[in-house]
Amino acid sequence: MHNSYRGRFAPSPSGDLHFGSLVAALGSYLDARHHNGTWLVRIEDIDPPREVAGASSAILNTLEQFGLCWDEPVVYQSQRHDFYQSELDKLIAQGVCYGCDCTRKMIMNGGGLYLGNCLNKDPDSLKTPHSLRFLNQHGIAKFEDRLLGTTTVNNDFANEDFILKRKDGLFAYQLVVVLDDIEQQITDIVRGSDLLEVTTRQMTLYQHLAVPFARYLHLPLAVTENGLKLSKQNHAKALNLDDRKELLIQALAFLGQHNSSQYQDFTIEQLLEYASKHWSIKDIPKQAQLIA
Ligand code: GLU
Repeated sequence: MHNSYRGRFAPSPSGDLHFGSLVAALGSYLDARHHNGTWLVRIEDIDPPREVAGASSAILNTLEQFGLCWDEPVVYQSQRHDFYQSELDKLIAQGVCYGCDCTRKMIMNGGGLYLGNCLNKDPDSLKTPHSLRFLNQHGIAKFEDRLLGTTTVNNDFANEDFILKRKDGLFAYQLVVVLDDIEQQITDIVRGSDLLEVTTRQMTLYQHLAVPFARYLHLPLAVTENGLKLSKQNHAKALNLDDRKELLIQALAFLGQHNSSQYQDFTIEQLLEYASKHWSIKDIPKQAQLIA
């Protein structure tokens, strides 16, 4: 048991929660409760163009309705710009950031990964606006996932000088997720497998900041018939709050958790308590699964 266990669910308010996000929230909640840990919710509202008005409060309300209650005040990334900028300024002062004015098209033409084009450019010659990249000298290509075991990404991906601040002036997800996970002392990150690859980038930042890595567990994705991740972009249905118990039972089944015949008689609270106690990682399927 890790009594210092701290986990989190970190939704982006780009729409209502859907079945895939319920699975991620539930998995991270159950893992935290199973370890007598602390469970936090952080609203990742750093990308206003992708935000849907009212989504943050709808997400929080839905989590509460499902009995997924958090232990500390909700953190909103939109209120932490000064913190992000001061941490970014430290990286700039260390000389591990540089400006890049490559267009998306140029990068796509080069095969989709940025190949260091702007590395030796005179900063004064850069077009404005431009993005800020991390000088990635010790890219990590491999890590141990608690469910998936040794996970490896392509070396070129691992070594890419990824973006810390976007051309439009917004902080990049990779930067703020790491700064917040460190600052909130998160020990265990349990989330969907769509973030498997970028975990290596996040670990590269941990390594650069000389902070011990979090532990990672990536849950199977809920996919539609054409193999797409269930997401707000492909119009995944919002969760019907009238079917909360049934949806929780379905999400537990999706996570391969022991199905008790008592479930039907349980309240939502009892269901969560039972599922936390019996939480079993070895029973979680490793593959993405279809959702009707
Ligand atoms: N905000 C991210 C998303 O909604 C998740 C971040 C994370 O769990 O690291 O996809």
